[in-house]
Amino acid sequence: MDRALANAALALKRANYLCQNNCGQRATQVHHLTYVGVFDEAPSDLVALCERCHADLHHKAPANDNQLTMFPLFVKEKD
Ligand SMILES: [Zn+2]
Ligand SMILES: [Zn+2]
Repeated sequence: MDRALANAALALKRANYLCQNNCGQRATQVHHLTYVGVFDEAPSDLVALCERCHADLHHKAPANDNQLTMFPLFVKEKD
């Protein structure tokens, strides 16, 4: 697993796989708070979000972190 994936997995785990927007949904995606060190970021720069909140977040400001959206993979650990 590469570092970006490992960090994203950690962010999801740390969030207990819950959307950090407090919408009650499962987090399946990870949003980057900063792009300064993208792909080499601190775990604290990552926010676990559900697909909908993440999409909402990017509605006005599209970003390039949406390729990190393969995380149903990790969510399944808890089923
Ligand atoms: Zn994002
Ligand atoms: Zn949400």
